[in-house]
Amino acid sequence: MSGLYNRLSLIEKLNWLISKGKRDKDEFAIIFLDLDNFKNINDSKGHECGDKILVHISKLLLKATRTNDIVSRLGGDEFVVVLPEFTNETKIVEVVQRLKKELNEPFTLDDDEYQITASMGIAIYPKDGDNVQMLLKNADIAMYKSKELGKNNYQFFTDAINKTVQERIKMQHIIRNALQNNYFKLFYQPKVDIQTNKIVACEALIRLIDPIEGIIPPFKFISIAEENLSIIPLGEWIIKEAVAQIKLWESTPLQNIKVSINLSGIQFKDSQLLQKIDSYTKEIERSKLDIELTESVLIEEFDERLEVIKKIKKLGISLSLDDFGTGYSSLSYLKDIPFDTLKIDKAFIDNIYTKDDLSFINMIIGIAEDLHLNVVAEGVETQEQLELLKEINCEQYQGYLCSKPVPAKEFEELFILN
Ligand code: C2E
Ligand code: CA
Ligand code: CA
Repeated sequence: MSGLYNRLSLIEKLNWLISKGKRDKDEFAIIFLDLDNFKNINDSKGHECGDKILVHISKLLLKATRTNDIVSRLGGDEFVVVLPEFTNETKIVEVVQRLKKELNEPFTLDDDEYQITASMGIAIYPKDGDNVQMLLKNADIAMYKSKELGKNNYQFFTDAINKTVQERIKMQHIIRNALQNNYFKLFYQPKVDIQTNKIVACEALIRLIDPIEGIIPPFKFISIAEENLSIIPLGEWIIKEAVAQIKLWESTPLQNIKVSINLSGIQFKDSQLLQKIDSYTKEIERSKLDIELTESVLIEEFDERLEVIKKIKKLGISLSLDDFGTGYSSLSYLKDIPFDTLKIDKAFIDNIYTKDDLSFINMIIGIAEDLHLNVVAEGVETQEQLELLKEINCEQYQGYLCSKPVPAKEFEELFILN
């Protein structure tokens, strides 16, 4: 692409600017720019179209910068703009805003209209790095942060950004490593029948057992696994593992224990999800498997996902609505989706001390009865909470009062002793 530096000539130029900067005590800024969702265009419209768009973007970048500025394409949809004459951060913001405005301008190409956005990260020599590699890396880190904050924006590199991004990158490595080496493990937490006090089911909850970091709880890695889609292979492993456990329990006293697994909304991005669930569960009685979903699953692609959920249910697997009461439009989901169980979020259980505190839960139980749904109270920690739930005929509970999530062997012992 004419007028644009390639990676090699960019590095050469940056090295030159760095020696000049050392000599004259000059500063300069680099902007790392990555197009948002470009992969979607490439996938849906083809590479030829993608290339045309990249040419268009190159022209825009040249237009929005000054002759002394350097515009370079690093490869893919990544660009770097160098501002050799750094004056102050306000000036850089002006440039970045101008780039953003130019890029956001809708344009037509082969009769299709496009609007492009990009995420940008800014690093300044020598403050954010005194060599090419470090400057590019830190501008890239700032760009990553700007993507994370919702795209179509920019971020200056800072130590705080560096730290959070490094931690995320480290966690991504840990997850990848754990998938390869089988460091994941399912723990099981009992679901107890409130009237009889018997363990009747359990929820499988994932743990990452890293040889160096120890046991890592899901809140530290699930969102990262969702972000980089490793939740898809991980989610498959979870289904297979829970099914294997159900099979192991088939000829034991735990043969009637129903096992719930959690499904992330991101797993629905896998167009093969339904086929996979079907094939992985062929060898068990599917009524022994339950899938817990939160409302957030239906935030995107409502109709498509609802179809998949209905087909999962048709296979004979039951469905639970997880964290009930924390969403915003919870009730409307109940009529569309063929749920079997409502799990009342721990937040509501935390607040019950006397009978007066039960009105909300009582109402939920009433609705559940009308719709023929089971109700599970989550996060029950005290005998007092349990007594109150018993009085209003809540069916099951889950919580530390009975047990924390434990490995399968310990769950078996709990069950036998129960
Ligand atoms: P969740 O599905 O709502 O799971 C219940 C969480 O509450 C579990 O945390 C459980 O250990 C905790 N809990 C249960 N009883 C009590 C109690 O009495 N007191 C307190 N303080 N906590 C209690 P955990 O295992 O850390 O999981 C957190 C979240 O991570 C889960 O929330 C779920 O959203 C996600 N998660 C866990 N395992 C998986 C998985 O296999 N797949 C997916 N996609 N998400 C998972
Ligand atoms: Ca759950
Ligand atoms: Ca829950």
